[in-house]
Amino acid sequence: MNTLQNKVAVITGANSGIGLATAKLYLQEGAKVVLAGRRKEALDDVAKSLSGDFITVVADVSKSDDNERLIKTTVDTYGKIDILFLNAGIAPPTPISDITVAHYDEIFDINVKGPIIATKEALPHINDGGTILFTSSVVNQKGFDGLSVYSASKGALRSFARVLTSEVKSRGIRVNSIAPGPINTPIYGKMGLPQEVVEDMGKGFAEQVPLGRFGTSEEIASTALFLASDAASYINGIEIEVDGGLSQI
Ligand code: NAD
Repeated sequence: MNTLQNKVAVITGANSGIGLATAKLYLQEGAKVVLAGRRKEALDDVAKSLSGDFITVVADVSKSDDNERLIKTTVDTYGKIDILFLNAGIAPPTPISDITVAHYDEIFDINVKGPIIATKEALPHINDGGTILFTSSVVNQKGFDGLSVYSASKGALRSFARVLTSEVKSRGIRVNSIAPGPINTPIYGKMGLPQEVVEDMGKGFAEQVPLGRFGTSEEIASTALFLASDAASYINGIEIEVDGGLSQI
């Protein structure tokens, strides 16, 4: 219950799905948690269900100023950062023939620019020996129709993480990525697709997973806890697939 005692963790996309499950687990394990999200109402709602030492910060990760304010608020409140979990992301699908600049900009601003700017802002405030985690996706290893720009964004994040791993090595900061397979979160309802299409897509994903099912946010959160903990002290620079085996067959 005290794996992360006195650690300060910043989690983006913390009002829903994987980010929320991780925030809950980190709080249970004694961390001080900064929950960042885009919508104040959603953050206020989840705050009611949480206990422990935490604050919420409204921040749109696609905006540089918001990333700067998120880190400043964290430092003003808790003085330092031990765990930076850059998890917020979107996955709106479209066939390559229908890609627009707006589609590209929206995905890359949130999934790539956001985590890069947040990392840059946070680095001076991360304790030596701290941890940076990214939520990537198995889509950067597989080709799923309609997810080209999303997949490219997660590939970009994976490459960024490799360079970051090297650039922070003198400070003992570990950098790791989690690549979820299909996880049962609200993200599917936000794809702008009719419910029956989402259900068919879900069935299709589940059939390809050797374990035959979607994963849960809690199964990603437990991985995020392990990677942030001392139990993972020699794990650095990796991307760990938490996907029921989907990417391995
Ligand atoms: P989710 O929709 O429940 O959570 C996404 C979070 O990101 C939400 O809190 C949302 O508010 C936040 N967000 C989106 N745009 C934002 C912005 N501009 N500023 C700040 N916050 C913003 O979905 P999830 O499945 O929990 O997604 C979390 C991460 O997991 C994402 O990066 C996603 O790409 C990745 N992922 C999910 C799956 C899956 O099957 N669910 C698979 C692989 C990767």
